Amino acid sequence: MIIDPLYLLLFLGTMALSLWASWRVKGAYARYSQVPASSGLSGAQIAQRILDLNGIRDVAVRPTKGLLSDHYDPANKQLMLCEENYYGTNVAALGVAAHECGHAIQHQQLYAPLQWRMAAVGITTIAGNIIPIAGFGLFYIAPRIAIPILAACFGIVMLFQLVTLPVEFDATARAKRILAQTGAVAPGAETAAMSKVLDAAALTYVAAFISALGTFLYYIMHMVGGQRSDD
Ligand SMILES: [Zn+2]
Repeated sequence: MIIDPLYLLLFLGTMALSLWASWRVKGAYARYSQVPASSGLSGAQIAQRILDLNGIRDVAVRPTKGLLSDHYDPANKQLMLCEENYYGTNVAALGVAAHECGHAIQHQQLYAPLQWRMAAVGITTIAGNIIPIAGFGLFYIAPRIAIPILAACFGIVMLFQLVTLPVEFDATARAKRILAQTGAVAPGAETAAMSKVLDAAALTYVAAFISALGTFLYYIMHMVGGQRSDD
């Protein structure tokens, strides 16, 4: 079995990029979750307040296990905060809670990129399930069939990650605005610390997009190269 050196480089490069991005988030979170918010509010309290201010009454705020597993579940209308952020009264907890509220507001306002992202979840899951089969089995048996399949699947994943970017950046921008307006996070040092956590989190989505784009282009290059060698 011969491994393409370019593939190895891409694999190691994207892995290093994603490890670096997640290391930065964990570092920023560990550091700034030590900064108490002078408002004294917890993540759950600010989340409930933001939902109330926006007239969102059908979304439940719930605690969940797993550090930084926070997410907004649009299908079940649940705003899940990890226990550290649900009960936490630090600026990182408030920032994450407000960010997830940003997604609930996007959902309420039918924010277009969120609608696209929700519509693309099904096909992206299918593409994600095909990738290991085409990448490990079929690739060695019938590369001419596997390569276009892999290019298409990574194309779908890449577009999904691309649509995720405005969704995430917009939620973070909303969170910063709301926290400033409500005074939940004080201007100055508290706001700067909260911003560092949210900006580091946004970077993980950029890293995921770059990885998917790189892999997509790699298979496109192979397709073009394969056709050329037929001429
Ligand atoms: Zn988000």
